[in-house]
Amino acid sequence: MPGSVPEVRVRVMNSAPVQGDGEWVLYWMVAVRRTRFNFALQRAAFWASELGRPLLVLEALRCDYPWASDRLHRFILDGMAENRRAFGRAGVTYHPYVEPALGAGRGLLEALAARAGVVVTDDCPAFFLPRMVAAAAARVPVLVEAVDGNGLLPLRAADRAYPTAHGFRRFLQRELPRHWAEAPEADPLAKRSGPPAVPLPEEIFDRWPPAGSDLLMGDAAALAALPLDHAVKPAPLRGGSEAAGAGLSTFLSARLAGYAQGRNRIEGSAASGLSPYLHFGHLSAHEVAAAVLEREDWNPGRPSPKATGSRQGWWGASASAEAFLDQLITWRELGLNAAAHLPAYQDFETLPDWARATLLKHSADPRPHLYTLGELEAAATHDPLWNAAQLQLVREGTIHNYLRMLWGKKILEWTGHPREALEVMTELNDRFALDGRDPNSVAGIFWTLGRYDRPWGPERPIFGTVRFMSSQNTARKMDVTGYLRRFGPAGAADGR
Ligand SMILES: Cc1cc2nc3c(=O)[nH]c(=O)nc-3n(C[C@H](O)[C@H](O)[C@H](O)COP(=O)(O)OP(=O)(O)OC[C@H]3O[C@@H](n4cnc5c(N)ncnc54)[C@H](O)[C@@H]3O)c2cc1C
Repeated sequence: MPGSVPEVRVRVMNSAPVQGDGEWVLYWMVAVRRTRFNFALQRAAFWASELGRPLLVLEALRCDYPWASDRLHRFILDGMAENRRAFGRAGVTYHPYVEPALGAGRGLLEALAARAGVVVTDDCPAFFLPRMVAAAAARVPVLVEAVDGNGLLPLRAADRAYPTAHGFRRFLQRELPRHWAEAPEADPLAKRSGPPAVPLPEEIFDRWPPAGSDLLMGDAAALAALPLDHAVKPAPLRGGSEAAGAGLSTFLSARLAGYAQGRNRIEGSAASGLSPYLHFGHLSAHEVAAAVLEREDWNPGRPSPKATGSRQGWWGASASAEAFLDQLITWRELGLNAAAHLPAYQDFETLPDWARATLLKHSADPRPHLYTLGELEAAATHDPLWNAAQLQLVREGTIHNYLRMLWGKKILEWTGHPREALEVMTELNDRFALDGRDPNSVAGIFWTLGRYDRPWGPERPIFGTVRFMSSQNTARKMDVTGYLRRFGPAGAADGR
């Protein structure tokens, strides 16, 4: 459809009709929390001009989603403050609603949808979002479309979950060229026609008032008044698309060239640090990939080489750009692929047969060290490197990329059963990590238990043939002294 988005990205969520006499077109922003490179916003703007109705954007934040905390809220609120400015500049009504008390937001979506011609929302396959969107679509009297803005490859371009990165990469190399030209518009509101913004009806404004500037702009007391987990403090990293764009620019100019060699380095790591922005939808994977390829003078019209599934050489770019794109596209979208196509993708039972069998065979092996969730959360283990990684997670909401793997492997080793390890990893990662709850966290956590990997000999206690990692080896291979100093028990202070 001209001016709209690729059909494969649009999912019709109910059988209700378009209401030609609706007062507005509603975009219910739940995952892709940005105004640029946003397929769902592009689709909503298209409907608004088709129906000749104004566009109304609702970005709502509940207070009862799992692990709701000062940290997660603050990062999202930073983005909402920017979205308010950007929609204001574009002349679009934007309603940033932050639930002040449990259940206070109930009925808001229905009230706005009841007067809409069409509702467009984000199609995110993870966390509680699929259930929330499906339940809402069943309740409203108007067509609801969910639009997939997750990655470069539409979720429905694949018809199954891929068990290995190699297989997925081969599929991606065959499939991606036909989707490359169908990127989202940088500014979906630029060519918007149709009536100007409508003010939010008074009865809606009064019952569900927009978040105040104090809360959006960072007032600590306003955040403290919300019913959240206040023990998880705001992270030092600022949220929102502007901070994401600044992070991307710095990465491109200062670290991308050394990415292949330096991604895993602990001191002076070349990793991008972009995953929190990708997770909260403040940054588009399309935008990141295009920016990387532009620096490489890459020509999208060049003939694609054969899809071999090889990690290097497919893009015809530098080794570092290829390595980065492999993480950003293959690994990131492999996680999305599992979330979209593997039923119950967070269950232990979905591990590959060999991994489940070997872990269960060794589940009763004696554990030289056993820790409770509380001890692990408090970084109170015998292992200073692991403790430092856990303290980084608690203080900053991130863990150095390489250490994240070690962090997971040790939890497998130090808990009473692999199923318990899975629960503990999920709890700590999803509660403290800015990018937790993402399909990538499921992929990463399950990788430590054998998903996307192969058996490794020799067979060992606890791990069986699942890949083993040791802190001693890591400390031997990498310079960890500065890291241990920074995140030792007396290291940096909390929060920002
Ligand atoms: C135990 C464990 C837990 C993890 N939890 C998360 C999580 O909660 N959220 C999360 O986004 N990632 C998670 N990962 C994957 C990976 O560690 C992070 O994506 C990466 O650390 C993000 O840092 P970066 O943005 O600097 O990565 P970069 O190296 O700069 O990579 C760029 C982007 O590629 C993607 N990417 C990179 N590595 C991976 C990977 N191994 N799997 C999937 N995508 C990848 C991410 O979107 C990342 O932002 C986890 C890995 C492990 C082993």
